[in-house]
Amino acid sequence: MSQTPYDVIVIGEGVSGLTAARELAVSTLKIATIEGQLFGGLVINVNELEPPIEGRPASGAELAAEMMQANAEAGVTSIQEPVTALRQTDGIYEVVTDSGVHRTRHVVVASGARLKKLGVPGEADYEGRGVSQCADCDGPMYQNEEVIVVGGGDSALQEALVLARYCRRVHLVHRRNQFRGAQHFADQIKGNDKISVTWNATVDAILGSQMVEKARIKHTDGKVEERACAGVFAYIGLEPNAEFLPSNLQRDDGGYVRTNENLETSIPGISAIGAVRSGYKGTLNDAMDEARRAAQLIKGRLA
Ligand code: NAP
Repeated sequence: MSQTPYDVIVIGEGVSGLTAARELAVSTLKIATIEGQLFGGLVINVNELEPPIEGRPASGAELAAEMMQANAEAGVTSIQEPVTALRQTDGIYEVVTDSGVHRTRHVVVASGARLKKLGVPGEADYEGRGVSQCADCDGPMYQNEEVIVVGGGDSALQEALVLARYCRRVHLVHRRNQFRGAQHFADQIKGNDKISVTWNATVDAILGSQMVEKARIKHTDGKVEERACAGVFAYIGLEPNAEFLPSNLQRDDGGYVRTNENLETSIPGISAIGAVRSGYKGTLNDAMDEARRAAQLIKGRLA
């Protein structure tokens, strides 16, 4: 087998990718992480990690910064380039980016997932001007304003509660007549007099001039109304960052990467961990556990 600059390339510098790289670096293997966006993944949007991770910083951004620092000290190379493709030739894997091709003996896909967009008129136009998906970071900008949160899962309920700390009123718009999210969140929503729930409805357009001024709400009975608001926050689930992966790599119906019990994908030499993986349970501790498990198996295989 020809030489490659890296033994393992980890795609993604979120919590799972950074943990895997750190575990792999405790060996003689040459490790790189590749990330096209800011390191940390979705966790950087979290102001207060809940439940707290023992002995670790309180905010997601601090946790990510600490992990990056530890990886640099352990000799992990961090490459800041968006990955556009992953290819395999003669047992060597080529991670293709905008700037070149990085060759390796093994790949860990830890590219995570992103919040889904509503895909309605106005959403892209008002991004950063009233359309946001980060209640923790942007909430303080909506002091005494009215905002709309879309969704009925844990994220929508949790983020509506965050926004209620700042906003005069939070309109939670959900397409069904009951929440999907946990009962303890639902109870807090019910008990919060700043939050009102609009059942059986969706936002189908976001309107304004310079900034968002209102949203068009479509009810399942056909009624349509415009509701004044300064912000729209959609929390309607996640989708995997998996577009760059080979088309023959097995995925589930949602596009998440299928793995076996050893976190190996359908293509030998490619592992997958964290939020991009089908069956990932969703917490930071799950991400870290998967990363450590995959790293142990890869170390054994490449040693
Ligand atoms: P989710 O559980 O998939 O919920 C998405 C919600 O958005 C659902 O209520 C869904 O409606 C609604 N929805 C989907 N597409 C829509 C559309 N096009 N228009 C309007 N509404 C739409 O997603 P999530 O809340 O982001 O949670 C993702 C995972 O993270 C879950 O496993 C969750 O438990 C976990 N999580 C946990 C916590 C925690 O603190 N424990 C916090 C956040 C997230 P339907 O109900 O009709 O499907």
